[in-house]
Amino acid sequence: MQTFATEAVDWPESATALREQVRALVAEHGERDPVRRANCWTKADPAFSRRLGEAGLLGMTWPREYGGHERSQIERYVVIEELLAAGAPVGAHWIADRQSGPLLLRMGNEELKRRWVPAIARGEAFACIGLSEPNSGSDLASVRTSARRDGDDWVINGQKVWTTGAHVAHFMIALIRSEPGSERQQGLSQFVIPMDAPGVTVKPIIDLTGAHEFNEVFFEDVRLPATALLGEEGNGWKQATAELSLERSGPERYLSSMALFTELVRHAGKHPDQTVRELVGRLAAEAWTLRLMSASVAAKLARGEDPALEATIVKDLGNSYEQAIPELVQAVVEMDLNGEDALARVTAYLLQVSPSFSLRGGTREILKGIIARGLGLR
Ligand SMILES: Cc1cc2nc3c(=O)[nH]c(=O)nc-3n(C[C@H](O)[C@H](O)[C@H](O)COP(=O)(O)OP(=O)(O)OC[C@H]3O[C@@H](n4cnc5c(N)ncnc54)[C@H](O)[C@@H]3O)c2cc1C
Repeated sequence: MQTFATEAVDWPESATALREQVRALVAEHGERDPVRRANCWTKADPAFSRRLGEAGLLGMTWPREYGGHERSQIERYVVIEELLAAGAPVGAHWIADRQSGPLLLRMGNEELKRRWVPAIARGEAFACIGLSEPNSGSDLASVRTSARRDGDDWVINGQKVWTTGAHVAHFMIALIRSEPGSERQQGLSQFVIPMDAPGVTVKPIIDLTGAHEFNEVFFEDVRLPATALLGEEGNGWKQATAELSLERSGPERYLSSMALFTELVRHAGKHPDQTVRELVGRLAAEAWTLRLMSASVAAKLARGEDPALEATIVKDLGNSYEQAIPELVQAVVEMDLNGEDALARVTAYLLQVSPSFSLRGGTREILKGIIARGLGLR
């Protein structure tokens, strides 16, 4: 049976300088509003993303030939955890830097790589993920959006839903049924679809806090050249599920509520009462454990291993942690949730959005199934 082996991460010598570089950038350009600092990896600020690109902090591990900086996975990890802990508005480039760039580098033809990867590293091209459709969320294999061949071209018809950032993205990597009449995991392919292609329509979905983060995306006879196919025709299921490891493994899966933890510590001051003191201690201890687990996953990725099971465990435990924080804070601190106080504003915001943390990137029940299989329990 496979288990979760944590390991002491060897932080590189460059880590201190990188942390200082990120802190200086955030201080100069970052987000000061505590509500915007919470769940910051969904908050888009294209100017901040470009600034990170100029500073060489995007596409950090990618080849120089494609605009990358050939640094290590652990150095990248240092940068992203600093950005998240500071609540920097990284939402515009997050998906492209985390998974679309690596996927293009691994599976893309030369034209796709040249067109998109250097622009992602400059913080100028943003991506969205087109997996979910009406009636196919967890049951991804029931995807119905179709790609039909017409001469050398592909013609796309259908609809995606819950597409985070489609309104700021320049391209989507979409999972599409490319073989007519195929069933389930067979006959699916991934395509790179420019968001300004004729026939692509993005309609906002406004969430219950009034924010616009995700969208419906419609494809009506969208014509793409043969080169828009990503990887191998018919191999879309395998490619998309491999991509999910990159999506689930990062520290964003336990740091979404970190801004509230920071506000709690600020609120506690030098002489907190016993219950607040206990809560701060508990949250710090859990964060430290999750950090060790999450960094261990990064170390495994850096060695070229595939820690899909560990990434899933960190996401599930991390989601529980970040969902619990607002409720725990509300239980020990008396506050007016409609008030202007920073602690109350972040608590109110997170109480509303945190239920979605365990849905995005795969629901808890689906993750538990993957973990059970990984542990040999089913
Ligand atoms: C904030 C947010 C951002 C998102 N961003 C994106 C995005 O950018 N791109 C994208 O493609 N999608 C995105 N999604 C969609 C997300 O991936 C789906 O919501 C998720 O996969 C669940 O699908 P569903 O909503 O159709 O729920 P369903 O699949 O209908 O599930 C409903 C409930 O049934 C449970 N369930 C379903 N099947 C099983 C099973 N076999 N066994 C046990 N329980 C089961 C689920 O766990 C869940 O609790 C986002 C969602 C959220 C909330």
